[in-house]
Amino acid sequence: MPWATLRKTPSDRASANLGDYETAIASFSWDQARGELAGFPDGGLNIAHEALDRQVQAGRGAQLALRWIGRDDAVRDFTYAQLTAQANRFANVLGSLGIGKGDRVYALLGRTPELYVAALGTLKAGAVFTPLFSAFGPEPIRARMEIGEANVLVTSQALYHRKVEAWRAELGSLRQVLLTDCAAEAPAGTIALAPAMARAAEAFETVRTGPEDMALLHFTSGTTGKPKGAVHVHEAVVAHHITGRTALDLRPGDIYWCTADPGWVTGTSYGIISPLTNGVTLVVDEAEFDAERWRTILREQKVTVWYTAPTAIRMLMRAWAQDPRPFGVPDLRFMASVGEPLNPEAVVWGLQAFGRPFHDNWWQTETGGIMIANFAAMDIKPGSMGRPLPGVSAGIVERSPEGDIRELETPMALGELALRPGWPSIMRGYLHEEARFRKCFAGGWYLTGDLAMRDSDGYYWFVGRADDVIKSAGHLIGPFEVESVLMEHPAVAEAAVIGLPDPVSGEVVKAYVALKAGLDASEALRRELLGHARKRLGAAVAPKDVAFRLNLPKTRSGKIMRRLLKARELGLPEGDLSTLESEER
Ligand code: ATP
Ligand code: MG
Repeated sequence: MPWATLRKTPSDRASANLGDYETAIASFSWDQARGELAGFPDGGLNIAHEALDRQVQAGRGAQLALRWIGRDDAVRDFTYAQLTAQANRFANVLGSLGIGKGDRVYALLGRTPELYVAALGTLKAGAVFTPLFSAFGPEPIRARMEIGEANVLVTSQALYHRKVEAWRAELGSLRQVLLTDCAAEAPAGTIALAPAMARAAEAFETVRTGPEDMALLHFTSGTTGKPKGAVHVHEAVVAHHITGRTALDLRPGDIYWCTADPGWVTGTSYGIISPLTNGVTLVVDEAEFDAERWRTILREQKVTVWYTAPTAIRMLMRAWAQDPRPFGVPDLRFMASVGEPLNPEAVVWGLQAFGRPFHDNWWQTETGGIMIANFAAMDIKPGSMGRPLPGVSAGIVERSPEGDIRELETPMALGELALRPGWPSIMRGYLHEEARFRKCFAGGWYLTGDLAMRDSDGYYWFVGRADDVIKSAGHLIGPFEVESVLMEHPAVAEAAVIGLPDPVSGEVVKAYVALKAGLDASEALRRELLGHARKRLGAAVAPKDVAFRLNLPKTRSGKIMRRLLKARELGLPEGDLSTLESEER
């Protein structure tokens, strides 16, 4: 590995929530983690009860729970008591409409305070919450609402008129549409939420759901194909809570910014639930990415823990290349990243720009919570996603053609990343896709569909999604390794690598590159990149071709869609594009 390990100091270790990894692993039990939550006397459990009621009962009512920053910089603050009261009102509104336990409440909203209130109020009411990206078009919205048999939609007037109204009558399950920005007279067939909230009582007794009651329905990102609806239950809060503490180092009083939109699982598990169960103040920015704005938020809000994603980090790196001022964020204690492999270059850039490294962690919509992480107290090997969390048992496995599963114990053996089921936030199913769900489990493992390696220190290294791995002249090539090497070149802002069919080698590696601001593509640069990759990776692994793009196709959650690059290159059908972000090519 060409990147030096980043050593943590004794004071890093002493101050981290998870101090000594081995001790934490040996002493951890999920039962004990469950014991840190309040629950109900009869063994019941409710996510919102843990996020709000428990905090208020513990005397945290006056503490800031949510600081919302509007697009126009307007700020709205909610203490734990105020957020609880709002969620209670929302639950009462649902109750008055006959919506309760098990009913499905969807939100189609930008990052507004109402989204957070709706999520928590829905859970309090014992109903099931599903967030949708507000940028989705009408079709993806409709498809997801059909799959989940939505009963209620919480949205804004503009989104309703633009994206829902035309087909609303055809969705038989949909009983109510609540509009968040309608002061009085609501359009036909809808209800103005604000006046209904104002009329509703501020007290509400959280519904005593059981740990196995369905709480959340989350759709996957659609990076590899049609999104799946993953079912999560209230028990998941045990994992949300404890992993926020171990993997994100959250502690009461932290000012925490999770940049993920609640339209995908990170923005809910770690953008709403985990920070609140941990007594943290969450910062929410309504606006889209803007390097200068982010710099200001981190500094002025005195963010202490920041959870973001590789795409955003790479965009910041891109902007920083032109304006390399240090971020000046003395309050920032811990920075973490998820969603895609984090290039070593980006981890180390953190040291230059922030004076501290990014901590990569790995999980999926299906796992409901962080499974593998670089912890605050642990040395970082840049490019590795870290080690399994306490309570999580991971392995690298191989499937034989007959379907038997064998664990690969040899360090750096390449295989599928697998987890032993048993953690509380594992999905309970793919809605209406039982066979697909069952296929994820074999030989006592949950199979993730990602390929990885584990080194002799127990660190995991992401290689690629099983679908994206390239087989060339007898080599298995992970796109991540090649992309990371391209990223080392000072001109490269982003890279994606795919395999293209080749009569001689089986597949050859092709790279797509987006350049940093102000740089122009040229034949000389193309050759330079090919030469750089060949020098670092050897001819067998290096790309045979590099193409320049203004941007790479990504999901709305910021994941590079390699399958789309490949389909376009080969003139094949592009498949489900419901999560594709609009592109500037
Ligand atoms: P779909 O399953 O619909 O194709 P998706 O897998 O992108 O979409 P998510 O559940 O949002 O949907 O993403 C989980 C996947 O993201 C993981 O399986 C992995 O491929 C990738 N991922 C997440 N975190 C990391 C990480 N730290 N390093 C590498 N890959 C990661
Ligand atoms: Mg997936």
